[in-house]
Amino acid sequence: MKAPITNRRKFLETVGTASILMGSGVGLRSLANGAEQRLALDGGEPVRPTPLSARPYGPQFYDDIEKQELLDVLESKVPFRWSRGPSSKVLAFEKEYAAHVGAKFALGVTSGTAALYSAMAALEVGPGDEVILPAWTWYACYDAIVLSGALPVFAEIDDSFDIDPADIEQKITPQTKVIMAVHLQGCPCDMDPILEIARKHNLRVLEDCAQCAGGRYKGKYVGTIGDIGINSFQLSKTITAGEGGAVITSDPKLFERAFRFHDFGTLHTPYTEALGGGLLSAFAACNFRMNEFTGAVLRGQLKKLEAICQGLRANARKVREAIADLPGLKLRKSPDLEGDLGVGVFLDWSTQQRRDKFLGAMKAEGIPASGPGGSVILPIAERIEQKATVHPAWPSFQSPRGRAIQYGRQCCPRTIDILSRAGGVIMDPKFGDNDIRDIIKAIRKVYLALNGSR
Ligand SMILES: *Cc1c(COP(=O)(O)O)cnc(C)c1O
Repeated sequence: MKAPITNRRKFLETVGTASILMGSGVGLRSLANGAEQRLALDGGEPVRPTPLSARPYGPQFYDDIEKQELLDVLESKVPFRWSRGPSSKVLAFEKEYAAHVGAKFALGVTSGTAALYSAMAALEVGPGDEVILPAWTWYACYDAIVLSGALPVFAEIDDSFDIDPADIEQKITPQTKVIMAVHLQGCPCDMDPILEIARKHNLRVLEDCAQCAGGRYKGKYVGTIGDIGINSFQLSKTITAGEGGAVITSDPKLFERAFRFHDFGTLHTPYTEALGGGLLSAFAACNFRMNEFTGAVLRGQLKKLEAICQGLRANARKVREAIADLPGLKLRKSPDLEGDLGVGVFLDWSTQQRRDKFLGAMKAEGIPASGPGGSVILPIAERIEQKATVHPAWPSFQSPRGRAIQYGRQCCPRTIDILSRAGGVIMDPKFGDNDIRDIIKAIRKVYLALNGSR
């Protein structure tokens, strides 16, 4: 922020927006695009009388394609993949998805969480191992590590809201086995420095792409850059069948282990053949098999993936470009704006108080804004702070490191700070020109009012 704005900001913080806005008229009538605009919060005209809202993407694109795929399964009366032979929808989805992202193998599973467990098994993560993950991500990441018996070690996020490569290296110990790079809210992690650290310390990289299907980093699809990637097809992700997940990798050994883990330790045609008969033997495992209905819907949704990504990207770009001139503007950083999904446009409001004022003012304008979403600051979640497990002798927390490690606020002060200052508007691939115009109008109006327009 530039100095004059800082002063103005300090002033706003001490006095409070409301009293300024109700007072002399400075700020109350902030200038946006040369027109005087009173905030809806203070009785002005809202930008939008009926609030705008984003919706889950995938179902907005459901059409005859998904319908026909589903009907095929219904009419076949065979909703189980191994009973359908080569005409399996799950198998077709796996092949098409792998081809789309440029991986050798894809495995359909029941959820993103099941995909994470399978990936942990593929990477042979177990008791005594440590896995580094971002302090801001979904519970599934932490739980997959703990349920594999390993110890989760948190690293801070940076201004991209993704794991900070610079903090990873400090968290490495001789027990570290895997770095979990989670591409959060559509933003690809900065994979080059992460891979460099992984190579230097001989670590594996797992990419969690649950919030970034279709995202790319330097021309490569996320999930194909590290050793193994996972995806989720739950309702709030890029494409969806309500639930579902996938593991992707180009390493046949990792694929075989993930595959065996998802189906009681066994292999199955045509993968047995593709893997040269299988190099590994069976081990204690799970059943995370995807059913044919899910495979059918996802096969249809895959055809919409790029359209959804393009819609999001185009809308986010329009908003970013139309606010780029705002004085002192600081947007969420992205290591690859071309590959970023554009799930939202987030601004750094420099304090939580100002961010919260922005959120309140936007709500009144009929353009709901929010802090970064879809994840949790895990170290301060009660059950994580308490290292709660189903059994008191859980291996994760029995090792000397596991006993000593402390979660809670002190392990992620920067993450808490960055997220508390960020506020923005969530995109929808089907927002039209009017919606985008209103979003731009509201952001400009509120930004100029909160910063002072002179
Ligand atoms: C949604 C999500 C998952 C888990 O996916 P489910 O299909 O809901 O089990 C894992 N990681 C991240 C980052 C997610 O957002």
